[in-house]
Amino acid sequence: MSRVFNFSPGPSVLPESVLKKAAAQMLDYEGSGQSVMEMSHRSAVFEKIIGDAESLLRELLDIPAHYKVLFLQGGAYLQFAMVPLNLLPEGGEADYIESGVWAAKAADEAEKYGAIHRAASSKDTNYSRIPPLPPPSARAAYYHITTNNTICGTRYTSLPETGGVPLVADMSSNILSQPLDIRRFGLVYAGAQKNLGPAGTTIVIVREDLLGRHRPLTPTMLRYDIHAENRSLYNTPPCYGIYIIMLVLQDIKNRGGLAAAYERNKEKAAILYDFLDRSKLFRGTARKEDRSLMNIPFVLPGEDLSAAFLKEAEAKGFVNLKGHRLVGGLRASIYNAMPAEGVKKLVELLEDFEARHAQGA
Ligand SMILES: *Cc1c(COP(=O)(O)O)cnc(C)c1O
Repeated sequence: MSRVFNFSPGPSVLPESVLKKAAAQMLDYEGSGQSVMEMSHRSAVFEKIIGDAESLLRELLDIPAHYKVLFLQGGAYLQFAMVPLNLLPEGGEADYIESGVWAAKAADEAEKYGAIHRAASSKDTNYSRIPPLPPPSARAAYYHITTNNTICGTRYTSLPETGGVPLVADMSSNILSQPLDIRRFGLVYAGAQKNLGPAGTTIVIVREDLLGRHRPLTPTMLRYDIHAENRSLYNTPPCYGIYIIMLVLQDIKNRGGLAAAYERNKEKAAILYDFLDRSKLFRGTARKEDRSLMNIPFVLPGEDLSAAFLKEAEAKGFVNLKGHRLVGGLRASIYNAMPAEGVKKLVELLEDFEARHAQGA
């Protein structure tokens, strides 16, 4: 068996210790004689798994009692619709900050349900920066941001002041990468497949007073209040995914929690950014002040050279380094589970490639 260094933007690398534990528990979960995939979601043993996942998340993110934690399905993409269907009244308005490709998609979807005010955008610079953040507009039901922009590689380093307007955040690609003051938010959502676990589970953290504002036509399965009342067990939840998330959360806790994760993430990102800043061949594309710790896009002069690099990298066990099809070039996603070793080895590979190709660049 040989594992690669996987720089995939999602689904992405998971901690090896988690995969080993899941493998060891595959046939017989803690003496139950069943795999977690096979057991009833109403069983005591599964109730404990989902309960542990919730309490670990509450502990790591310091989530106060007046916030609900939900384990849903449909990915972040379904949240693009669930947020307005639950928070935007008929004839209402909401503010969206268009800081990236996903942020724009969130606004596009919400537009089906009300007047969406794109309060700021960085589209004019191909989303290479976080735009200046205006205060919420007078009639905004909520203010939507995307805290980490997965495709163009930027992140918010400070949050907008929204006063009484609930701040809603898509944190799919940087949840649990650093400590967070959840009290600043009305609602946070994240698809699991970047920093939390396998694809198929979506986490929503929502302030209690925002429940029950759904529209009359909102499907039952898309109502936050229904899922909150039923502790994410209204119907069959994505049981196995929730179990893996529980193991990932345990692993983060064992390694010192989010403060330690943040230190590791800053160190890892600095290894690659320091190289990009001094390279004569490779160039980072995001504005320095806004650079993401999770997704690092960079380019070579010409797509031919990119293709040559990708081929060479793959042959050496560095995979999924291709940039998003909308921007081209290269991108290294270095989520929590990417070891520092992987980033160091990647930089060695980049240095070696540069030494052979820099002439005339
Ligand atoms: C990956 C991603 C999405 C899309 O997630 P799905 O789970 O595939 O729906 C949305 N927003 C952000 C910020 C992402 O990184």
